[in-house]
Amino acid sequence: MQIKNIESKLYLYPGVIHIHSKFSDGTGDIDEITKAAKKAGLFWVLITDHNNMDVKEGFYNGVSVLVGEEISPKTENHYLAFGIKNLIAPSDAADSFIEEVRAQGGFGFVAHPDESDSRNNKAHPIKWLDKSLEVDGIEIWNWFSDWADNYDERNIFKIAYAYFFRHKLIKGPHRATLNWWDELNLKNDKIIPAIGGADAHALKVSKYIIPLKIFPYESCFKTLNNILMTENPLTDDFEKNKEIILNSIKCGNNIILNQRYSKSGQFPQFEVLNGFKKAYCGQTINLNENTYLHIKLFQKADIKVLHNGEEIYYTKANQLTLKLEKTGKYRFEAKYKDNPWIYSNPIQVK
Ligand SMILES: [Zn+2]
Ligand SMILES: [Zn+2]
Repeated sequence: MQIKNIESKLYLYPGVIHIHSKFSDGTGDIDEITKAAKKAGLFWVLITDHNNMDVKEGFYNGVSVLVGEEISPKTENHYLAFGIKNLIAPSDAADSFIEEVRAQGGFGFVAHPDESDSRNNKAHPIKWLDKSLEVDGIEIWNWFSDWADNYDERNIFKIAYAYFFRHKLIKGPHRATLNWWDELNLKNDKIIPAIGGADAHALKVSKYIIPLKIFPYESCFKTLNNILMTENPLTDDFEKNKEIILNSIKCGNNIILNQRYSKSGQFPQFEVLNGFKKAYCGQTINLNENTYLHIKLFQKADIKVLHNGEEIYYTKANQLTLKLEKTGKYRFEAKYKDNPWIYSNPIQVK
């Protein structure tokens, strides 16, 4: 019976994607990273060192550790590759490494495609140059890039501000990135998934002031999470967990959530129901005369619902229900007290 689907339990697992360890330019080893992840309430992390996959996958401190690669040419076109077997060398031709990821049975996400050209610091923006390439997915929000885009190091007061009020520098995904993502979803029948990336390094800043760690792993892990949604619970079998986690990310079965504005264990609910079936992020459902979109949050927020990239509804509320009359892809964004908070993957209505 299809009805069973409506009652089937959905398991939610927060995790963090895009982490650098000592094997590239991060400062921590896997023990430090997973201890921080455990403290932040994460079930899984996805390590993505630059051109390196030396971290060994498995359970560490009760956390599932998956290893991908941030394919990193020197000045542009960073690409997060997941589910690959062998290291892929960065090259000037992005289309060749996109293909190589697929040839190895993996999939990839463009990293921080629209870093700002007008930074007031020395961290050079690394952008994605050719948006006509067919990519598998997009990292629509990169926490460290967001901070670095707005980090002003022209004097000691601005530096101190960026350290002590670091969360005030966070502005959310670039409009250009969201537009690109929506365009790809409009062009493709399948759902082109999005992720939020921490780009966690736990870097030390030591200019003028005593050395301070900017976004140590634990505090970073309490911000930008991906909440995986799955009908199969994670277990103590690492290989099984790996399959569930990678498959969920590949299909867009995740909501991007800034945990700073959520109480722990409270996750947003986003679904489309048609009386027979319930669909969540990354899934497809048929349109009938009883098709409703439902969002439930735990606190009042500015909620925007988008249909094929166009805003169709706005409200300030903690939940909403919309009757759907058109096919297409639906997603939502929410801001909490003007701060970027939630970005869902689309649900497709056919
Ligand atoms: Zn990068
Ligand atoms: Zn990175």
